[in-house]
Amino acid sequence: MAALDSTLDSIWLPYTQMANTPPPQMAVATQGVRISLADGRELIDGTSSWWTACHGYNHPHIREAVSHQLEVMPHVMFGGLVHEPALRLASRLAALLPGDLERVFFTDSGSVAVEVALKMARQYWINGGQPKRQRIIHFRHSYHGDTFATMAICDPEEGMHTRFADAMPKEIMAELPTTETSHAAFDQCLALHAHEVAAVIIEPLVQGAGGMKMHDAQTLTRVAASCARHNVLLIADEIMTGFGRTGRLFACEEAEITPDIICLSKALTGGTLALAATVARRHIFAAFLSDDPAAALMHGPTFMANPLACAAAHASLDLFTQEPRLAQVAAIELQLKDELAPCRQFTNVSDVRVKGAIGVVEMRGEINLTAYRTRFAELGVWVRPFGNVIYLMPPFIISQEDLRMLTNAVVRVVSEYAGDN
Ligand SMILES: *Cc1c(COP(=O)(O)O)cnc(C)c1O
Repeated sequence: MAALDSTLDSIWLPYTQMANTPPPQMAVATQGVRISLADGRELIDGTSSWWTACHGYNHPHIREAVSHQLEVMPHVMFGGLVHEPALRLASRLAALLPGDLERVFFTDSGSVAVEVALKMARQYWINGGQPKRQRIIHFRHSYHGDTFATMAICDPEEGMHTRFADAMPKEIMAELPTTETSHAAFDQCLALHAHEVAAVIIEPLVQGAGGMKMHDAQTLTRVAASCARHNVLLIADEIMTGFGRTGRLFACEEAEITPDIICLSKALTGGTLALAATVARRHIFAAFLSDDPAAALMHGPTFMANPLACAAAHASLDLFTQEPRLAQVAAIELQLKDELAPCRQFTNVSDVRVKGAIGVVEMRGEINLTAYRTRFAELGVWVRPFGNVIYLMPPFIISQEDLRMLTNAVVRVVSEYAGDN
């Protein structure tokens, strides 16, 4: 473990039992796909810093855009004032998103973007005279955030939030309709609950922090069809999948569905600044227009639509057209499929799956996360397994050689532990 230059005595770390976890690594610089540590080592990043840095680190185009905005107006409140970076970003997102997803509400984190989506969905029914429609249906293996309303729509078995079970609203967990039979069951669930349900929320194609589970476009089509049939709103949480990660700019495109509300964040600024967006379709927004002031959406984070973050998001969107991002994702997908396949031979591996620039090796049973993480760092890669999954979500600009370093490290570590299960 790297020696830390300064003390950890004042810091509270995320998702960490600080009584017995070895200290974290000290990062001092980033460049491209590499993270430099204080002890002089460089790690190839297989996580894109929690799935954000899709263009790699320190991309000059993003740096220039942020530097320019820093000179002009780093921040200004968004109440009573607007600014060009936010207005233009909203219209750019509206133009890129499917259908009439066109009304953009900016926040500063994914969890809050989901909170806003839940508030929009619930208030849509309140404003429409159906105030009993407040519950939310989510799916097994879902993850939608760490705040109270979003914890309530995470799969409780996934474990992070079980301590709060009594403090959370009781929502409804359904199985993904991956087959015709399970579609019938899901449709029945909606028929039974529609009168009390505001919305169904789904992570399209790939469920992230709840276990990196994947489903096909048809499953998504079934969910959308049932929602339409029973007049239940559909929220797509594309915080992880948005901006190319699954192969299209947005995962919903693959199933040609238009959710009523979509949540975006992680790669929105290319991993440089905190920004999130909740985007609603025209009819959702229309339900908030009235002579009644109480019908308005009462939400407004202090730093919403931060101009620096909007500038970074503009630059990030530019890069999706100036550089061949989606072609890079397609190449990464092929390479991941090819080079992670050898993991299948090990008895401690239960599944290997790939979608876009996401490669997952699922292990049988619990794994010693600390040991695995330490071993990956020793091999010169930044790979952070959680639960029983080892995953790679590299920056899209990664070279073939660097990606091979990542996949080799995964195969090697899995093989080293193969005897243990
Ligand atoms: C990360 C994530 C969130 C939460 O975003 P934060 O910025 O960490 O609050 C919500 N939904 C999905 C699908 C995510 O991947």
